[in-house]
Amino acid sequence: MRLTRRIAIGTGLAAALPLAGHAAQPLAGRQAPSFFRSKIGDFEVTAINDGLAQRPLDGFIKNAPIEEVRKVLGDAFMAQDKITIPFTSVVVNTGSKLILLDSGNGDLGAPTTGSWMANFRAAGFDPDKVDAVLISHFHGDHINGTRLKDGKAVFPNAEIMVSAPEWDFWMDDGKMAQAPEGMKPAFQNVRRVFAPMAKDVKRFDWGKEIVSGITAVAAPGHTPGHTVFAVQSGNARFLMMSDLTNNTAVFVRKPDWQAIVDMDGEVARQSRHRMLDLAASEKMQVAFYHAPFPATGHILRDGAGAYQLVPALWQPLG
Ligand SMILES: [Zn+2]
Repeated sequence: MRLTRRIAIGTGLAAALPLAGHAAQPLAGRQAPSFFRSKIGDFEVTAINDGLAQRPLDGFIKNAPIEEVRKVLGDAFMAQDKITIPFTSVVVNTGSKLILLDSGNGDLGAPTTGSWMANFRAAGFDPDKVDAVLISHFHGDHINGTRLKDGKAVFPNAEIMVSAPEWDFWMDDGKMAQAPEGMKPAFQNVRRVFAPMAKDVKRFDWGKEIVSGITAVAAPGHTPGHTVFAVQSGNARFLMMSDLTNNTAVFVRKPDWQAIVDMDGEVARQSRHRMLDLAASEKMQVAFYHAPFPATGHILRDGAGAYQLVPALWQPLG
């Protein structure tokens, strides 16, 4: 009873109380600079957000009834008529090298994206000082940040490093010729980004340390060369899961569900299980490119074959 009265006061009555007049403050309509730091051993890892985009829910998940998908989205308090896809890449500062894991949408994403560079600078970084950009796979939301619409290279002093199987697939003219019409723009975009620097792009193999402290881990399915990055400093380990899921609220809870954007849904499903199981067993901090900000945390088992992403909290950085 008392609670009911308190709610009434807190809503209807309080709203009716006259307030002293001030000039109206316009609604801001934007977030504060969105970056978030974690300490991994001696490294500092910074998540840099690039906004989000939404796609129609209908048809996005190939092997589950839409009502079940809506229920999972509702349980996570997310929009139930669309799939929400946030974008967050990661900067690893090893103390001697500045390494970027994927690059954001640049100036070619949805209107609700494009905050990446402002957030990167707000975090104290300078694009001229990036030593290497490691690319998880060749979808536009991961590579367009390296080259703007007008052709300008965004990280002029960085080595661009990509997985060999990803390069071999997308740069193959035969594969482009055979691809369905709907996929041809993705092939053309890969050429737009990489052709001007093709001879300088370094190709890495899975299972190898590609720069100090960072190893490329095979996680194909989303694309043929899709890569997870394992970061290690001392005993501390961190996994950048890249596009192991396109929405953690859905695919961490339901790793068997397959997204229309996974080129080989079954292989992607196997990679997802393997990496989620590893992260949960080893209690490693993880980040996902498409997770609610800060897009980093830990994986907790949640019943048979299901998991949860527990967001990272602020931690001492000194
Ligand atoms: Zn993506």
